[in-house]
Amino acid sequence: MVNRENYEKSATKENVLTDDEIEALLDAIKTMYEEFVVKGLLYTGLRESAFHHMKESWVDFDRRLIRVPRKQRCMVCDSCKKPRYTKSGNETKAANTWVPKTSAGTRTIPMVPEVQEILDWYFNQQGHKTVIEQYRWRQNLYNTVRKVGKRAKIDHPVFPHALRGTFATILAKKDFDMWEIKDTLGWKTIQPAIFYINLAGEQIKKSFEEKW
Ligand SMILES: [Zn+2]
Repeated sequence: MVNRENYEKSATKENVLTDDEIEALLDAIKTMYEEFVVKGLLYTGLRESAFHHMKESWVDFDRRLIRVPRKQRCMVCDSCKKPRYTKSGNETKAANTWVPKTSAGTRTIPMVPEVQEILDWYFNQQGHKTVIEQYRWRQNLYNTVRKVGKRAKIDHPVFPHALRGTFATILAKKDFDMWEIKDTLGWKTIQPAIFYINLAGEQIKKSFEEKW
């Protein structure tokens, strides 16, 4: 079996969606729950693990913000159940606790218009309190995104981390600068933001050449 983590790391950058592919992906959505997962990942840029742990309390509908906490109790995932230690034995994560991948992952994300309605549907109209109650395993989110990507006939794999990279290019195309992109995506350094700004530029150039 392909190691998913390695696969995603190597493949994310090649699998960032173009504008036409985003349109095809959104057109291929058949259910509200698919819309929640696809738009929820694509238009927040949250890591799959963070999206999986999102709770109603993260979402501030009045101020249109999503706040990723520093830590959160989780009794579900194997990775959350286990405590984590440094080599010298200091605990960096308590047992039964979820933490963002890095400290920069703790952040406030603007709720863009594209995702407002579907978050309102999931948390307010359906009355869900957490994502985990509907998608117990991260694999469920991954499978949903893959399924919609295949249905959209996109000729490369579409998975949560590729949607996160795609959100970075969406921001770049809207002229957000590297610092804003870094903070929104929760990166420690600006290097990945510069990469996605350049990638967005290449995408724009390519589509210009194809269409002119
Ligand atoms: Zn967990």
